[in-house]
Amino acid sequence: MKYKLNCVITVITILFLLSFKVFTVNAQSEKNALISQPGYYKIEIGDYEVTALSDGTCMLDMSKLLLNAQPGEVQKILEQNVLNTTVETSINAYLIRHGEKLILVDAGCGTTMGNTLGLVTKSIRRAGYKPEQINAVLITHLHIDHIGGLTQNGKMVFPNAILYINKHEASFWLDSANLKKAPENAKQFFEPAVTAIAPYLKAGRVHLFENGSQLFSGISAQDAVGHTPGHTFYSLESKGDKMVFWGDLVHCGVVQFEDPAVSVGFDVDTAGAAMSRIKEFDKAAQAHYWIAAPHLSFPGIGHLRHAEKSYIWIPANYSIIRPK
Ligand SMILES: [Zn+2]
Repeated sequence: MKYKLNCVITVITILFLLSFKVFTVNAQSEKNALISQPGYYKIEIGDYEVTALSDGTCMLDMSKLLLNAQPGEVQKILEQNVLNTTVETSINAYLIRHGEKLILVDAGCGTTMGNTLGLVTKSIRRAGYKPEQINAVLITHLHIDHIGGLTQNGKMVFPNAILYINKHEASFWLDSANLKKAPENAKQFFEPAVTAIAPYLKAGRVHLFENGSQLFSGISAQDAVGHTPGHTFYSLESKGDKMVFWGDLVHCGVVQFEDPAVSVGFDVDTAGAAMSRIKEFDKAAQAHYWIAAPHLSFPGIGHLRHAEKSYIWIPANYSIIRPK
């Protein structure tokens, strides 16, 4: 039985690495020379400090990854935005500080995706904090690029943190019975999810919550199903200011803001993900709150506004002056 399980895990891992290679360029095989960047950016939302943390970048072939586009649409929009079809794509996590409390939103991919990624803990230290100080990690969904950084060599990277995971997300990815019936493009994510969460489950440090739960003062979970079955946004509100941490609503901003119907190969439910995207784009553009997005160019913080049938991303204005 144990042998059979090991075989299944090995096959899944191989499939995962092979299929990720379809979308990523230079990820696992070769070491890239890196430019040293600070890797963090701070902004204040009412009484809370939010620090964007860079996990690094990876090269994604958008001509293969993006789905439901018109012929030639992706190439045309990328070209207009001075980008090639293979786009250097950010992976960002966010750290919310309220007094002494430190709450991380996602944790990057750790050592699982090559040397251009896995920089979240380095970025935490550069921002003036230590991984052991983190009290909680809010998980947007259980894909490897958001949770691989939780665990290293089977040990917790954030040993004093409680993981907050949507109940539907946990019951989908952490139950091996779902693997067989899962869509082909989702199978690769099961084993890495189990590995990343295992030491926290063992230590009793996982809190599962229902859709729409208030998790902390000023911080609530918001159901955003589609990309994954329990995909979750987190909303932070303080003194009339608001920021929504999106999770994977957008993978290629310039294309998907122009045409929100364009989906991504990693969506478990493509139509549901597109519906979530259109609904949230509308809401964000109307209410004009801050957005923090893990795959928009670092720091991935800004606002959205309507432009006829599409949307325009307005990145945060660089700021060093604390609001009065
Ligand atoms: Zn992602």
